[in-house]
Amino acid sequence: MNNKVGHVIEKLNENGYKAYLVGGWVRDYLMGLEAHDFDVTTSAKPDEVKEVFKGQTIVDTGLKHGTVTLVLDGEPIEITTFRRESEYSDGRHPDRVEFSESIEEDLSRRDFTMNAIAYSPEEGIVDPFGGSKDIEAKLIRGVRDPEERFNEDGLRILRALRFASSLGFEIEEETAKAALKTKERLKDISAERIAKEFSGLLEGKYAADVIRKYWEVIAVFIPEIQPMVGFDQKNYHHVYDVMEHSLHVMDEMPRVAYLRFAGLFHDVGKPHTFTIDEEGVGHFYGHGKVGTEMVREILNRLKYDNETKNRIVTLVDWHDRRIEVEERSIKRALGKLGEELFFDLLLIKRADALSQAPEFLGRLERYGDMADMAGRILDEEECFSRAGLKINGRDLMDLGIPSGPEIGRILDQLVDMVIEGEVGNEKEALLDIAEKMKN
Ligand code: ATP
Ligand code: MG
Repeated sequence: MNNKVGHVIEKLNENGYKAYLVGGWVRDYLMGLEAHDFDVTTSAKPDEVKEVFKGQTIVDTGLKHGTVTLVLDGEPIEITTFRRESEYSDGRHPDRVEFSESIEEDLSRRDFTMNAIAYSPEEGIVDPFGGSKDIEAKLIRGVRDPEERFNEDGLRILRALRFASSLGFEIEEETAKAALKTKERLKDISAERIAKEFSGLLEGKYAADVIRKYWEVIAVFIPEIQPMVGFDQKNYHHVYDVMEHSLHVMDEMPRVAYLRFAGLFHDVGKPHTFTIDEEGVGHFYGHGKVGTEMVREILNRLKYDNETKNRIVTLVDWHDRRIEVEERSIKRALGKLGEELFFDLLLIKRADALSQAPEFLGRLERYGDMADMAGRILDEEECFSRAGLKINGRDLMDLGIPSGPEIGRILDQLVDMVIEGEVGNEKEALLDIAEKMKN
């Protein structure tokens, strides 16, 4: 335990209060991992905590949950007063927060046994629900009665999946049954809280296993996932159904939420565009477009931020567009997508190829060549967008073109001509052409 937290606990003890480290820090410590933020729980009420640390930086971060944050040398330490579980009439927020005098009572309101362990230097480990044993067995088990825990707060169902995905633990049988039984409780949870846990789930190392097993839970807030499950593609490119293929693609992507989201849903349009030809071969014409709209709708519903939304929507939209291994084709894609999304797109195309029938692995070479080519274009600062053009809007206005959309149109046309090799990226030559374009 680090000295600062030791000092915080000691200070509270000296003033006659009980204090423990709880939650993620203790769990990770018992697993031999470190570097988790500190959550301290104490018998002191928020006002009393503030009194003990008078004169230091202490912020009200969640007073209605009894939480204040003490900042010691720039390091935040959350200090929360012992609480007891009170009524939840809406499955989301307890009707009121009640403080408690007992650590056991505080632990009993926590979600999973592995998160319901406390530690203090004086008392050592306090583990009334067998959390250490469950950590050893790699089990996520609801505290006391899992069904009741999930009914009280539906977010816990998704948290169970998120922890399973990040830790590689199994959800214990009764807890798993309860999660499936109560899954509709997730409908009461705000989009933002769902999105945050779902992103965490996607970033876990074991996300594919968890989604494969518990897709029905995800279908409560993303029903679009259901038709993907078991959907036979009837196409020689594919050895997997749509869901299995999508899970493989997701798994090949780096563990960054938006990339994995795009991987998981890049083919969500497939079940909706399926046709079979005379030979009995399945096709999905236009699935990229249909999928793009579906993904936009999902992201809007879950209230993802605009930046994330744009990235995912663009990747789904482009995943099936053909880009030639040619400078011009690559420059056009670079110009439309920007550098970062262009390379993200190559990742998804690669992952897509890796998740099809093995005889199509030859495509991988293409994507390597495309990356090399794009790298060279960027290194040599060749022009593929307005920003790389040797003239700008100011120069056009100096030619007497009025500011407005016309400027942008001309710049885009010039970029096109430079990419096509119809004119060199040189100021004089570009100005000459612009002069001719101006009326
Ligand atoms: P991590 O921060 O690594 O995600 P954590 O265990 O610290 O894991 P937090 O969400 O920070 O998770 O919550 C801190 C602790 O608060 C948890 O360990 C758990 O004891 C408790 N907790 C958090 N959310 C809930 C909830 N919805 N229901 C019951 N207890 C919860
Ligand atoms: Mg935490």
